[in-house]
Amino acid sequence: MKTFVMKAIGQVGFAEKPTPRPGPLDAVVKTTMALICTSDSHTVRGAIGPRQNLTLGHEAVGLVHEVGAEVRGFKPGDRIVVGAITPDWGEPASQSGHSSQSGQALGGWKFANIKDGVFAEYFHVNDADANLALIPSSVPDDAAVYCADMLSTGLMAAENADIPIGGTVAVFALGPIGLMAVAGAKLRGAGLIIGIDNIPKRLELARKFGADATIDFNRQDAVAATMQLTGGAGVDSAIEALGADITFQNAIKVTKPGGTISNVGYHGEGEFVHIPRLDWGVGMAEKTIRTGLCPGGRLRMERLLRLVERGRVDPTVLTTHRFRFDEMAKAFEMMDKKLDGIIKPLILF
Ligand code: ZN
Repeated sequence: MKTFVMKAIGQVGFAEKPTPRPGPLDAVVKTTMALICTSDSHTVRGAIGPRQNLTLGHEAVGLVHEVGAEVRGFKPGDRIVVGAITPDWGEPASQSGHSSQSGQALGGWKFANIKDGVFAEYFHVNDADANLALIPSSVPDDAAVYCADMLSTGLMAAENADIPIGGTVAVFALGPIGLMAVAGAKLRGAGLIIGIDNIPKRLELARKFGADATIDFNRQDAVAATMQLTGGAGVDSAIEALGADITFQNAIKVTKPGGTISNVGYHGEGEFVHIPRLDWGVGMAEKTIRTGLCPGGRLRMERLLRLVERGRVDPTVLTTHRFRFDEMAKAFEMMDKKLDGIIKPLILF
C-alpha cells in the first residue's frame, strides 16, 4: 500500500509498505479522509527524535477493513473515526483517568510516534472496541475527521481551564487548536472570551467561534490589552495553544490569582519553558498550571460527534485547502510553511 512517511529528520516522501493485519483486539481501517497537523511538522523537524520511514499523520476517518477475532463492536464496512490518541485501556494510567499517558508519558500517542500513522491507504488501530467510534449518518466525513484531534484537544483546553460560568478567558494563539479552544470556552459558559493572534483571518474566525474581543499582538501588547479588557483584574482562565515560551509566560501574567493556566501547546523546542516569578505570585498566588494531551477513546469521540451532529460547533470552516493523497508532498509543504493562509488541509483518499 501507499504511505506518506518521514524518511529522516527534515525529509518526507511516499513509501510502499505491506497492508497491516489486526491482532485479536485490533482493527485495520481503510482511510477515506485525513487532516495534516502542525505536530506532523514538529515530528519531521525532530521534536520526538529521529525516525526512519515512519508513516505520518494521526487525524483520520475511514471504513473498517478488517477486525481481530475478539472485536465485538465493529465490523468491516463501518464508517468510523479514531482518536489521534489510542490508549491502551488496560494500563494503570488509563484506569486512573489518564489514558493519554498509558504505558509512559504521552504513551497514548501512538500514530506517527511509536507506530505508523494514518497517512496511508490502510492503518492499524489497537484496542479497536475502545478506540473507534461509529460516525452518525448525518455527520459527513469532512466534519467527523475534526473529532480525532482538533475538537478533542481544543475542547480539552477549555475543560482543563476550569472556566467559571460567566468567567473571563484569554486564548493565546488562534491556530486550529486555539480556535477550537475558543469554541470550547463558549460551550463552557465563559462570559468574556479574548482571542490573541496576529493573523487577521484567524482573528476573524475566533470571533465567529465565540470570541468577544480579539487582540492583534502586532498592534497591541497582548498582556496590557488583556489586562485592560478585564478592567485590570486579569482573566479567570488562560489557554496556551501555541507551545512557545513567550505565550506561556504571557498566559501566566494575565491570569488573576486563583485562576487557571491551561497549556495545550506542544513545547517542541528549547530546553526550558520559563515561569515569570513575580507574575506567578512568587509561587503563592494560587495560579494553577494544567497540562494535557488530546484525550482519545470511543466515549470521547462519541461525545464530540454529538456536538457536531447537533450543530453546537462546526469545525469544517477550518478546512482551507483540499488535496488528493497523491498531492501529499505539496500539501505537507504548504502546511509546514503555512503558505496561502492555510489552516487545515484535508486529504482525500
Ligand atoms: Zn493533530
